[in-house]
Formats: sequence, structure tokens, C-alpha cells
Amino acid sequence: MTECNYCGSNVSHDFARVFADTNGRILACPSCSANAGIADVAVQRAEQLAQAGQEPAEL
Ligand SMILES: [Zn+2]
Repeated sequence: MTECNYCGSNVSHDFARVFADTNGRILACPSCSANAGIADVAVQRAEQLAQAGQEPAEL
């Protein structure tokens, strides 16, 4: 099962395919962001991680 990397909620495979970033991370899902803003929230969180100096984890 695929999980949101931010809140740990299960997400569908299709959701993961659409919203995962280039590193395969899912930084936002309907459980932790407004449905219409998932892409925006994911981008914001990716930028926050980059600013914090965290390298994406290799799976
Ligand atoms: Zn989530």
C-alpha cells in the first residue's frame, strides 16, 4: 500500500502516480491538504524540505 510521506495515510496507486514527486515521495494527500490544493501543498512542502537542507531519501 502506498502512503503519504507527510501524514502516513494510505493513498491509491493512481493518486501516487499523479502526485508523487520526481523522487517518488508523496508530500500531500486529501487527508492532510485541501483536495483542490494537493499539488500546491506538495510543491510548498518540497520547497520547505529543500530549504531545510534535507536530501530526498533514496528508497
Ligand atoms: Zn497526507
